[in-house]
Amino acid sequence: RELKKLGPPVPVKGERARSKRRFPVVAVIGRPNVGKSTVVNRLAKRFKDGSIVFDESGVTRDRTYKRAWYCGKDFDVVDTGGLVFDDKGGDVFAKEIRQQALIALEEATAVIMVVDGIVGCNVLDQEIARFLRQQKVPVVLAVNKCESQKYGEIQTAEFWCLGLGEPWPISGLHGDGIYDMMDNVAEHLYEVDENAEEEDNINVAIVGRPNVGKSSLLNRLFGETRSIVSDVPGTTRDSIDAMFERGGRTYRLVDTAGIRRKGKVDYGNEFFMVNRAFKAIRRADVVLLMVDVEAGITDQDRVLADRIQSDGRACVVVCNKWDLVEDKDDSSYNKAVEYARQMLSPVKWAEVCFTSAKTGQRCTKLFDLVDEVAVQHRRRVKTSVLNEVLRDAVLWQAPPSKKSSGASQGKIYYCNQIATRPPTVAVFCNNPKLFGDNYKRYLDRKFREQLGLKSTPIRFLWRGKR
Ligand code: GDP
Ligand code: GDP
Repeated sequence: RELKKLGPPVPVKGERARSKRRFPVVAVIGRPNVGKSTVVNRLAKRFKDGSIVFDESGVTRDRTYKRAWYCGKDFDVVDTGGLVFDDKGGDVFAKEIRQQALIALEEATAVIMVVDGIVGCNVLDQEIARFLRQQKVPVVLAVNKCESQKYGEIQTAEFWCLGLGEPWPISGLHGDGIYDMMDNVAEHLYEVDENAEEEDNINVAIVGRPNVGKSSLLNRLFGETRSIVSDVPGTTRDSIDAMFERGGRTYRLVDTAGIRRKGKVDYGNEFFMVNRAFKAIRRADVVLLMVDVEAGITDQDRVLADRIQSDGRACVVVCNKWDLVEDKDDSSYNKAVEYARQMLSPVKWAEVCFTSAKTGQRCTKLFDLVDEVAVQHRRRVKTSVLNEVLRDAVLWQAPPSKKSSGASQGKIYYCNQIATRPPTVAVFCNNPKLFGDNYKRYLDRKFREQLGLKSTPIRFLWRGKR
């Protein structure tokens, strides 16, 4: 049947899901209108300080994760949008939505299947249940819209037929029964060790305009390490990544094909070049943004810098062809750093390194810089430390008050880090509108200075009182 065409069976829960995402994922699945979003919001709000939205959008993924917490376990809860099995309705999006649901399911640690206790069990529920029974992921069945416990038991009885074990009466709207249901879900969730280092490859991209020296640098880097593990296929048919090791670390150099084959490419089509660089940036942890000190920095370089910042990637600005600069001294060096920061202001926080791919000057130093900024990019800061920094910052400079907006003084209550790569901090305040760009920049600077997060963007998500 149609479903089978959509890919291999869902993997064993746990191991694979665990390797892909840091926190366990609870997927909420069910036909439309049973109350999935209501349940998701309830979980996110009830069990954490607020519903923290964590959007992952892109070509293949467009789902919203919300961080939640139950009985000492952090997890992400994701609304699958709708596992609609019947395409006959002519809804062009149905297939896409189903794909999304399947992807969510693939990485799920546990599933909450939601059904409607008022409408009762229907054919669609049965189909979804049959599908879920074939998967290896644990499923907890929640019968929603059961506002009264007694009534709830009657409502749930008919759902035993789904073959998913005990149906738990809940009310997403009012919160009844949520704890009992969650006890069953939590059994399947693993605990995340907050202190464990996230151990995996560092993905590095080298981007820059034609002729700045990217392939020369690539050859240098390979020459220095000599321990290329292998070329591995990248995401698209013609993109090749290279893996290599140095000092016990494995690096994945993203899309080396895009760099190597440049000699044969017609630069006339600038769009494709920029597009290719964008793709590489998206897949990287650390981007080496390479510019040519002799030719100078242009708008195109800035476009790349912009993208690095907005994608939240760590960055090192590599000013190449330093050998061509004559009469170098401290002052010309400082001027050059100043110039690079100014021209590439979106990444003005980035380290600037002057290299010569031709002579090899400082090319190995790049590895150390990559290591350094990768550590910052994936750093997890204790909540207590974050809040100490926040308190300090607010004491030094109180949030502004915007009289025009009618409201009073901006107040910040609390913050916590909800993601790494880049470090992402949710700031809980009375009203985000009260904080202007100036104050936000001030906080950004304070956090950077105090936490030693110099070379990575920090994302702030401002959350108002609900
Ligand atoms: P989804 O399409 O599955 O995400 O469903 P929604 O969360 O959008 O909810 C669909 C409708 O069911 C909305 O009108 C909700 O107000 C209603 N609803 C959700 N949860 C409950 C509940 O626990 N009790 C009742 N009575 N209605 C609910
Ligand atoms: P790509 O298009 O960015 O991959 O640039 P290439 O690595 O092909 O280099 C373009 C040209 O610049 C070649 O002629 C290189 O020899 C030269 N080149 C690259 N790096 C340096 C450098 O550090 N100093 C000097 N003087 N020339 C360089």
